[in-house]
Amino acid sequence: MKKSFMPQFKSRDELEAYQLEGLKWTVNHVYENSPFYKKKFDEVGVKPEKIKTLADIKYLPFTSASDLQEGYPFPLRSVPFDRIVRIHASSGTTGKRKILCYTARDIDDWANMFARCFEMAELTSQDRVQIAVGYGLWTAGVGFQLGCERFGAMAVPVGPANTEIHCQMLVDLQSTVFCSTASMALLMAEEIERRGLKDKISLKKVILGAERHSSTMRRRIKESTGAEHVFDIPGLTELYGPGTGLDCSLHKGIHYWADYYILEILNPETLEPVAPGEVGEMVVTTLRKEGSPLIRYRTRDLTRLIPEPCPCGNILPKHDRIMGRSDDMFIFRAVNIYPSQIDHVLSSFGEIGSEYQVHLYHTEDGRDRMLIKVERAAGLSISGDAEIAERISKEIRRQILVRSEVEIVDYGTLPRTARKSKRVFDHRIDLFPESNGE
Ligand code: ZN
Repeated sequence: MKKSFMPQFKSRDELEAYQLEGLKWTVNHVYENSPFYKKKFDEVGVKPEKIKTLADIKYLPFTSASDLQEGYPFPLRSVPFDRIVRIHASSGTTGKRKILCYTARDIDDWANMFARCFEMAELTSQDRVQIAVGYGLWTAGVGFQLGCERFGAMAVPVGPANTEIHCQMLVDLQSTVFCSTASMALLMAEEIERRGLKDKISLKKVILGAERHSSTMRRRIKESTGAEHVFDIPGLTELYGPGTGLDCSLHKGIHYWADYYILEILNPETLEPVAPGEVGEMVVTTLRKEGSPLIRYRTRDLTRLIPEPCPCGNILPKHDRIMGRSDDMFIFRAVNIYPSQIDHVLSSFGEIGSEYQVHLYHTEDGRDRMLIKVERAAGLSISGDAEIAERISKEIRRQILVRSEVEIVDYGTLPRTARKSKRVFDHRIDLFPESNGE
């Protein structure tokens, strides 16, 4: 029988019993071995014995990115240095890098988790996996490679090279799987089209990580590369790295590896659980991690649980795609709105481009007003603007339950930046309307 990396649980009860064991082990481990965690636990007056059921997780203190930065260079370290075999670090866009330690078992667990991703994507040992993400301090590349080797497929570790080399490898080696960021995959899609390589390559699957991407992007990648499936791989350096879950071939949500970590979805303001299926912040607690365990780590990433069982039959629970960051949330007429919700509505309209801006104002009569600026798709006539704007506004009302005005602007007029573009402009909090820096 072929080796499986899936857990052997038959029911949610068995999974939860396993989670409880892992949770108890983790709280004891960090309390005994990490002065940082012991202090945190003592501050809120919690001893490891307090954890008797999974629900008791609510007594545990939260951790956040600032805890990792304060403990630089070895935050959360819970084993002696002689047991640490590797470190990885997040890219550190703000402040110090977040460095995480791995023991030999942590690396082994990560490889198994990643191998499970490839199993979920239904690869076989015949597959050739071209890895186009970075190697080094950053966890991505080496994670994809370890997982691929553990799974038993052939790794083609090209890294983030130029499209020239990637195209050559796709043709010469007939790679069947391509792993990259969404923007890299899009670049490759354009290049494959430009060089007319679609019939010369054998790409079947694309695995995208690290950035949000729209359904339009996924469609484009499939059309240009000939791939049948585009998978979404979540990943956070703090939580091993990429490879902690994957959507199955039905693409109805991301199965996550609940035997390695507990995922809570909390309201980012009250830190109480949201109702099942509602959007909130992902908060993770590891169940086996030795080097740098996480206790209720606030990821700031937003998503929702998908409570319904998956038609694929896999018992592992699912969450939705990452919908943005809790820091990006804004409140409009008492409704919590995430830019990704607007993104989602807009992406269903083919007549507009993917760039947009949301402007929030206070009107004279003290009410809030939302103006959404979107670009007309390239090549379309201005004459349809009013009708499209009307339909978008209706759809926003229907899906997000707020009134908005929609303005269609010329294609290419909204600013584009390489990194995350600023999309929400809240003029309500600006006392000097002339000075706001759009
Ligand atoms: Zn499934």
